[in-house]
Amino acid sequence: MLRWSIATVTMGGTLEAKLAAAARAGFRAVEIFENDLTFFSGRPRDVRARAQDLGLEIIALQPMRDFEGMPEPMRARNFERAQRKFDLMEELGTRALCICSSVMEEASGDFDVIAKDLGELADLAAQRGFSIGYEALAWGRYVRDWMQAWDIVQKADRPNLGIVLDSYHICVRKNPLAPLANIPANRIALVQIADAPDIVMDPMSLSRHHRCFPGQGDYPIQEFVSACVATGYDGPLSLEIFNDQFRGAPAPAIARDGMRALQALGETIDGVRTERGERTLSIGQPLPASPVIDGIEFMEFVAGHTEATRLASLLEGLGFTRVAHHRSKDVELFRQNDLNIVLNREQDGFAHSFYLLHGTSVCALALRFDDPKRALDRANALGAPTYYGRVGPGEALIPAVAGLENSLVYFMPRQPKDGSSPSNWDRDFVFDSARDAAGPLNTLDHISNVVRRSEFLSWVTFYKTILGFNDEPQVELADPYGAFYSRVLGSPDKSVRIPMNIGDGGATNVSRFIDTFGGSGVQQIAFSTNNLFAFVEKAKAAGVEFLAIPGNYYEDLEARYDIAPDILTKMRSLGVLYDKVKGGEFYHIYTRMFDERFFFEIVERHNYDLFGAANTPVRLMAQMNELDEAMKGRAMGAM
Ligand code: MG
Repeated sequence: MLRWSIATVTMGGTLEAKLAAAARAGFRAVEIFENDLTFFSGRPRDVRARAQDLGLEIIALQPMRDFEGMPEPMRARNFERAQRKFDLMEELGTRALCICSSVMEEASGDFDVIAKDLGELADLAAQRGFSIGYEALAWGRYVRDWMQAWDIVQKADRPNLGIVLDSYHICVRKNPLAPLANIPANRIALVQIADAPDIVMDPMSLSRHHRCFPGQGDYPIQEFVSACVATGYDGPLSLEIFNDQFRGAPAPAIARDGMRALQALGETIDGVRTERGERTLSIGQPLPASPVIDGIEFMEFVAGHTEATRLASLLEGLGFTRVAHHRSKDVELFRQNDLNIVLNREQDGFAHSFYLLHGTSVCALALRFDDPKRALDRANALGAPTYYGRVGPGEALIPAVAGLENSLVYFMPRQPKDGSSPSNWDRDFVFDSARDAAGPLNTLDHISNVVRRSEFLSWVTFYKTILGFNDEPQVELADPYGAFYSRVLGSPDKSVRIPMNIGDGGATNVSRFIDTFGGSGVQQIAFSTNNLFAFVEKAKAAGVEFLAIPGNYYEDLEARYDIAPDILTKMRSLGVLYDKVKGGEFYHIYTRMFDERFFFEIVERHNYDLFGAANTPVRLMAQMNELDEAMKGRAMGAM
């Protein structure tokens, strides 16, 4: 039966904790990585008993390294070593041993010799009812590609000797995937799944540190699994991930992410068409279809009393109008065209708790779904439970799931625009006079998250599997104090775009945000306008302060691009940044940070779909100056 499995090496902690986490995430099968057993304080039979209690089948013991092709006396010693592994397997209650291709200098590269060794080992294994899987390591001495391992397995020709197909080794070597479908199913010992970023690095280091779950990297995992399944293979599909961040994270969260990634993968290879006809993959319950999101209905800030007053005047400076107040809570609605910002100053409840932990911040995002019920069912099936907040009588009960740092992601239906039926807004808010408010800002262009490196991939999987977002290639830039990485996650229609940023280095902009905020969160909110210059002039007159951009930036712009002198002068005087691609232009500006935490960006796009990454280092440096200035100001005040 096709079933999901996870190798214990994927998670961190003790073997007991790993098994418990795997079972809790819904896995019914595990591969035991031998080191986990070596470090385990009990007997292998205790592991067997524990796995049994948890409903986990131990599908394999792995890996046995550097077995094949050795000269005597090492050859004889390796056969003794294998016998000891068999004893271990007996006690562990598993039937399969995985052997990866040798890296030994002394080993023979003669495939006939290798096949002979593996054949003899398979015969010994057969006496005990065991099977052997042979896997080509991408950095093996002589055997590196699956085609070579398959050649050897065919030469050895034993019914209990099969090939282990590991997507990492196959994809990093850019081996062909389609011919995998021609391997007879009964000769595939095990299918292992690991994604990885498509970066140039030696395959061993990449494998040991940067493997990741399907959908987090760049490898064609769907194509790989489809080819394996097309053979008729009917065994375990096992995650085998070596990743330092994963081992550093709590095992239950990693196991849950792994299951989430597999469930979403399963969805994409459901119903594989093979030469033998249609084959339906049935692994667990089918997921409700991916949601269709067409925008952000509102964003909610929480703030203390004095901060809220300052934030409200900043919003007004950006062109928002306070149009309504909440029926039962100390909450206001600011509106501008279709943009809604909710400002919460409640003294108890969820938002206030969030404020106590993180200070003035975005505590919730409300997304508009085609079918919120189906979307929530999907989220629940992917291990994200529903959260309901406290509401007053008659008010709308809006379900949510937990986002960054347990902020909320609300699941909203699309709101009627024509007043044909009462919207959530009418149920919860009392409007002052006009419910519409014009202004220079049109859309929520993007919202940047800053996340801890250790959580980054987890949120990639969250956005992709639960919200149905796509991701764009990762961008790497210099931070004045380290490195800055950004990956954009967004709804397929691009109505919601969330660049997720991480940093390397303790004093980077990202690290400083995480320190101030007390975790991951929303650092940047970008709105679009049709006329940035006019907007900035008006906002400045209203008291909005913008990030100071050094004059050298404009000298550089002048040298790089052919910009009309009056436009350049205007940009320089206002602090507007600029980027250009073939056929497209981008003008943007940043406000100063609000209390050294978050800031707004206003963008004007002309056939330009990117985020002005070329200007990010300028922004990071200017913000560093701003933060240092604020720190000095505080130090002076304390004197
Ligand atoms: Mg492997």
